[in-house]
Amino acid sequence: MKIIKIEPVIVNQHLEKPFHFSQWEYQTRTICLVKITTEDGIFGWGEGYGPAGMVKAGIEFFTPFITGMDALDNEVVWQNMYLRSLDYARRGVFLSALSAIDVALWDIKGKIMERPVYQLLGGKKNEKIKPYATGLYFSQNRNLKSDLVEEALKYKEEGYLGIKMKVGLGIKKDTEYVTAIRKAIGDEVDLMIDSNHAYTLKEAVQLCVALKDLNIAWFEEPVSPELYDNYSQLRDKTDIPIAGGECEYLRHGFLQLFQHHSVDIAQPDICAAGGITEVKKIAAMANTFGVEVIPHSWGTGIALYAAMHLIANLDPSPGRMYQPLPWMELDQTENDLRDVLTGPPIVPENGMLRIPEMPGLGVEMNEKALEKFRVG
Ligand code: MG
Repeated sequence: MKIIKIEPVIVNQHLEKPFHFSQWEYQTRTICLVKITTEDGIFGWGEGYGPAGMVKAGIEFFTPFITGMDALDNEVVWQNMYLRSLDYARRGVFLSALSAIDVALWDIKGKIMERPVYQLLGGKKNEKIKPYATGLYFSQNRNLKSDLVEEALKYKEEGYLGIKMKVGLGIKKDTEYVTAIRKAIGDEVDLMIDSNHAYTLKEAVQLCVALKDLNIAWFEEPVSPELYDNYSQLRDKTDIPIAGGECEYLRHGFLQLFQHHSVDIAQPDICAAGGITEVKKIAAMANTFGVEVIPHSWGTGIALYAAMHLIANLDPSPGRMYQPLPWMELDQTENDLRDVLTGPPIVPENGMLRIPEMPGLGVEMNEKALEKFRVG
């Protein structure tokens, strides 16, 4: 089942409502996908996280080395790409290119085997997934606090059991907004905060102290992802669980997080950290350190379907009879590249997501929409 064609595709959506977080504003959404086709005409889709042009360049770099390889030998392909890039790219967007190709090969493998990817990974250890709403970004609107409260109440009404909000506006404003949201949604909905590494250790400690009575489910990326020791020092000073890893790569990078006791929750992005192949290994390693895994997920339906299969297969940590369902991140910002370009739509039923049962990833590409959104 030889790989005969590897086609990177860049898609773009101009956002009607720009939004920002602690680092920058999003006005457009631009993503590099990859379509891989075998000699029998079976194809799979993958996606890379990060700057689309650079992901595309990475895919083009790998293409001559893996064209002609057997698509079913996906770990062999992975190893080939890894060794070809190791000397130049132990971190970063090159690995998003590797991840995109890996995800597409899992899609192909599932289609050839006529099995959903979760089954190829070893089966469903979790019957359902509990999505949480990622939203509550910042906008230039003068009524930001009331807008955030209204948005959080909408997610609660829609049945979400968890809501993640952005922080990073400074300790005073963050405390005011998080307090307002918690008061509005009550105690039965989990509330997570994410600063996207906006703070120093000292500031992060101050924020944890200010929010200590608000039952925060986790504090994500409190400090720079480079500062593994700052993470662990923060963990020593707060009861709020600490999460991170969306900017981390490969099992070697995650080993740093684990050996430094940096996080309670690891958040590898399947489309950046090394694909489904590598994140399964990262998850196994996390389990040996007693660290929970809740992948970072963002992008088109390809990334989200990949996440659902992997989450279905995650080990419970620890196992128990009344096992809580695993979380999955479901971004709520405007996203036609997920909702129009790909399907079937990912819609919670009674606050839960079903695991996809179609062969491969189970994600479908809307070819007409692809013509509309394609820019490269
Ligand atoms: Mg985050």
